[in-house]
Amino acid sequence: MDIQVVQNCPQCGAAVVLAETARLLTCTYCGTKNYLQSRGPFRYTLPGGQQPAASLLAPYIRFKGTIFLVTDKGLEHRVIDTTQAANPVPGLPPSLGVRPQAMQLQRIDPHGASRYLPQTLKASAILEKAAAIGNLTARAGKDLHHRAYIGETLSYIYLPLVAKQEALFDGVTDIRLAGFEDLSGHPLQGAKYDPDWQVRFLATLCPQCGAGLEGAGDCQVMTCANCQTAWGFGPEGLIGIDWLLHPGNTATPLYLPFWRIAAHIPVLSIDSFADFVVRTNQPFLPRPGWRERIMSFWIPGIKLRPKIFLQAGRQATLGQWRVSPVSGSVVPNLFPVTLPASEALQAVKLILAAATASPRLVFPYLPQVELTEMTMQLVYLPFVDKGHDWVQPDTGVVIGKNILQLGRSL
Ligand SMILES: [Zn+2]
Ligand SMILES: [Zn+2]
Repeated sequence: MDIQVVQNCPQCGAAVVLAETARLLTCTYCGTKNYLQSRGPFRYTLPGGQQPAASLLAPYIRFKGTIFLVTDKGLEHRVIDTTQAANPVPGLPPSLGVRPQAMQLQRIDPHGASRYLPQTLKASAILEKAAAIGNLTARAGKDLHHRAYIGETLSYIYLPLVAKQEALFDGVTDIRLAGFEDLSGHPLQGAKYDPDWQVRFLATLCPQCGAGLEGAGDCQVMTCANCQTAWGFGPEGLIGIDWLLHPGNTATPLYLPFWRIAAHIPVLSIDSFADFVVRTNQPFLPRPGWRERIMSFWIPGIKLRPKIFLQAGRQATLGQWRVSPVSGSVVPNLFPVTLPASEALQAVKLILAAATASPRLVFPYLPQVELTEMTMQLVYLPFVDKGHDWVQPDTGVVIGKNILQLGRSL
């Protein structure tokens, strides 16, 4: 389910409701457009957390995404949506359950007097627990070759706590969680707001030419129609993204983004596309010229259901020799990039696994797979309208129209 966040417009102060992962804030009152600049995951609190009585906030890690496993049996995946306590204070609810979905969250306030209990459990431990909940129980070293978390929302949600009557209470429900006598060894003074958590609101202006950047609320890449550049969100500001387009024709209704990650894989002796075809035992022979074509992995730049995500990545990777992307110009029918570059990198081993024709030749090496001489570009491929599906005529990638819309809220 989606989580909503109430955010005050930095210009006029009006309350705007945003999606949890939204990077762009467009104020419906004054029209101001800003992007949210942050060094790490966003941090929110359940309502009530900024009130003076609720001086203490307990951290929960929120994960929404897909866990993929590559095992002897093949590729498995589960969609996970969980919010788990990240501090072991006795009495704390282990999960926030549906509460974050039922109420509108607020961003934590740098100027508030709240104190924050430390995060003592790592996100990785909580993700492992979530994988176990999803019945993905293959064991590393036995039949598990690789595990990845994709399309994720990782954020922190704080539960307000109130200390009164020698006990700790849930600041939202006022339910008594634990008596002070049960809290020895769990100091409750908490820490101050960490400046690294600060989210800044910055004007969506092109760093190269100063024109206004375009992007949907859930986009991970904004584009400049003036100087034809693309910009992703980095830890310190906007990062220029090298982007290309495989031209369709004037009637092309839709271009979908893929991250093209070119790399060598020393452990599998894969340098070229021809190497890939041989090492993964494809049922066709390398063509002349494929030795000179550096191997690249094509990762959908959009959030898709796991099965479709793997299929689309596999098809585009196998069909890469059929497309010749060139410098493009920003046109209105470019679909927004909703999967950031960092997530695409996490998917390379999955697409390698999904695209191999002989798992036993590749899966056991996945733990040792490292990408060298890696370069990354965003490539838009043209799709044609085939009734219920969008079809990429060169590579054969097929994505259902309903799936593409659903993917926006995955
Ligand atoms: Zn405003
Ligand atoms: Zn520009």
